Amino acid sequence: MIIASSETGTKRQPEVGGRLCNYIGGCWSESTRSEFLPVTNPATGELLGEVPMSSRADVTAAVEAAGQAFPAWRSTPAVERVRVLFRLKMLLERYADELAECLTREHGKPRAESRAELQRGIENVEHACGIPTLMMGETLEDIAPGIDCETIRQPLGVFAAMTPYNFPVMIPLWFWPYAVATGNTFVLKPSEQDPLTHQRVVTLAEEAGLPAGVLNVVHGDREAVTALLEHPDVQGVSFVGSSQVARMIYAQAAATGKRVQALGGAKNHMIVLPDADYDQAARVVLSSAFASTGQRCLAGSVVVGVGEAYEPVRDRVVDGAASLRLGNGLDAAVDMGPVISARHRGRVVGYVEQGAQEGAHLLLDGRGATVPELPHGHWIGPTVFEGMTPGMAIGREEIFGPVLGVTRVDSLREAVALMHKIEYGNATSIFTTSGRAAREFRYRAGISMIGVNIGVAAPMAFFPFGGSRGSFFGDLKAQGRDAIEFYTDRRVVISRW
Ligand code: NAD
Repeated sequence: MIIASSETGTKRQPEVGGRLCNYIGGCWSESTRSEFLPVTNPATGELLGEVPMSSRADVTAAVEAAGQAFPAWRSTPAVERVRVLFRLKMLLERYADELAECLTREHGKPRAESRAELQRGIENVEHACGIPTLMMGETLEDIAPGIDCETIRQPLGVFAAMTPYNFPVMIPLWFWPYAVATGNTFVLKPSEQDPLTHQRVVTLAEEAGLPAGVLNVVHGDREAVTALLEHPDVQGVSFVGSSQVARMIYAQAAATGKRVQALGGAKNHMIVLPDADYDQAARVVLSSAFASTGQRCLAGSVVVGVGEAYEPVRDRVVDGAASLRLGNGLDAAVDMGPVISARHRGRVVGYVEQGAQEGAHLLLDGRGATVPELPHGHWIGPTVFEGMTPGMAIGREEIFGPVLGVTRVDSLREAVALMHKIEYGNATSIFTTSGRAAREFRYRAGISMIGVNIGVAAPMAFFPFGGSRGSFFGDLKAQGRDAIEFYTDRRVVISRW
């Protein structure tokens, strides 16, 4: 079993089926609250563990531990700080198969997708290993006779992140490796729905030599998040989740003067022009819409066929979606796993029902999908609507499940206008063989992550990740140079000797 026991702190790290501990000041410690939520395998219903709903006192202890660790960690040379991350990278690679299996068990996504998620996480650790160079300042001699000016980047203290369930390994790694590499200390509040695999990552960080208190983990929900937002010693927060919560986090963190980056939800449009390669476009659209069972912020939600592209792409997508095999992600032949919970399944099914009532036409209905050998899984099959419009809830709201709309417009301009009727601005894609059309699209899209003949426009670790409009609240995004900016303050020194 993946959650191996480790006796490094005062507490034993729990086995699967046991209760998770918080990780505070280098010790695995029980929450002061006795309320727990079950963590289950969404394909089988098997109980994998229980996660504590930590209290304000737990959060206070974690922030204090992080605060105490800050002075020594800050003065540890950057090259030594990143040596821990180099070792972590090697450990993540050594245990990659186990971690991917654990992730599939608690999240449901196919094992290959779990492995790909882990890889994207590792790439952030690799990028953070470059901090000794990335964190350098600038100098200009003789800004006036005999006077020099320089900027230096300094860490600020304790940072925190609250992360979602859909990429529970990768998304925390968008944040804490950069924060600690730049000399800050950290408190992570992972998703309460699937916290097990990242808990294992934390044990590997400990094994890699991360000193006590530099990274702390407090499990929980709203109460823990509120306590982090209200704690005066937390200098900045990173949030990833639904837009409704992201908006609230942004407002609350800003009100108390914290740095904040809050990444929210999405409704991504994929535009297919008549000159596109229809087979390639349909293949990419299918993967974008239905991989991870549609539970990703970069999933394509609406295919917009321009003119004569519409019918061939629609038909290919519906045929391809109908052939996807649903099942346990540990089975290599499976294309699509379950959604995370019965509650989330109910939400997705609710949207499908509403869409049918609002007048959209169901070309493929996944509501009745089952996996006979796994009767307790949260199954919903690929679902495709025709005639979805931004006037309908299914056309403008994030469904976050395997539900795709297909719609027709007459021109690229009309496609862009349709996309702009939606509040979200996370990602978009165009499929075309025309460089001119692609350039026009890039110029007018007004959306932060743009794919050209790419269905999931996921920036790699050295580029910024984050949306615009209703999908992002803040200015500095995750990853890339933005991460270094977010976790450091530039101080200017003007000297005369
Ligand atoms: P969520 O908003 O329900 O939860 C995210 C985090 O916020 C969790 O840690 C949760 O415990 C906490 N939380 C939930 N409700 C809260 C509240 N009322 N007050 C304080 N904290 C609260 O999101 P989720 O269901 O875990 O994840 C799915 C969402 O995340 C989707 O909307 C998806 O688009 C979004 N997402 C966005 C990106 C991106 O890069 N923009 C990436 C991944 C996921």
